[in-house]
Amino acid sequence: MRPVILMLTCFLLSGSLFKQQANANLKITRLTGDFYIYTTYNYYKGNRTPANGLYLLTNKGAVIIDTPWDSTQFQPLLDSIWARHHQKVVLCLATHFHEDRTGGLAYYRQQGIRTYTTRQTDMLSQKRGMKRAQFLLTKDTTFTVGQHSFQTYFPGHGHAPDNIVVWFKKERVLYGGCLIKSMEDNSLGNMGDASVKDYAQTVANVQRTYKNPTYVIPGHNDWTNPESVSHTLTMARQLQQKP
Ligand SMILES: [Zn+2]
Repeated sequence: MRPVILMLTCFLLSGSLFKQQANANLKITRLTGDFYIYTTYNYYKGNRTPANGLYLLTNKGAVIIDTPWDSTQFQPLLDSIWARHHQKVVLCLATHFHEDRTGGLAYYRQQGIRTYTTRQTDMLSQKRGMKRAQFLLTKDTTFTVGQHSFQTYFPGHGHAPDNIVVWFKKERVLYGGCLIKSMEDNSLGNMGDASVKDYAQTVANVQRTYKNPTYVIPGHNDWTNPESVSHTLTMARQLQQKP
């Protein structure tokens, strides 16, 4: 009998270890306190590229900023938040209309999660066939969920005409989304919907509004260095000055 129990235990243990390690398509790292960065992957110009999102735990449920880029990870993200923290996701806000931000909006709405974008994002999403949110913001908005508050800010046209950033004042976390490039990036990336003319001013607006953030989360790649805002500004100025 004993060897059977032992074998069964080993089997169950390896099964759960396997489950935890198997998902290389969803990476979750704690940022600070109740803040976590999650990363999913998709292909951009043939290269497997990471996209960062954020989730925040509150005593009224979890909040997601931007949906996974990889559609196979919409549900695993919810499952992971439940498995790790026993929290249901109650709110999801997407920061511009591209698929790496909005891809999961319809799915999350179906799950009973309150989904938000700005009205400007919604207009672009509609035009470009992207997934849309249930609730639309008509101006910069402060959300309060449980013990946490955060503010949306539209700084102008940069990466996209509708890009917003999210500021968590108490923890000085600036969620930059795709407007802000990582220190790892040596270009502004996908400029398909970007404004070469306005990009620098838009980033300068963010820098002036939210001084000395402790953490800055860019849309892609490494997010450990808050100098990413000035790095982005430098690149945007260089691009603007190109003949
Ligand atoms: Zn992006």
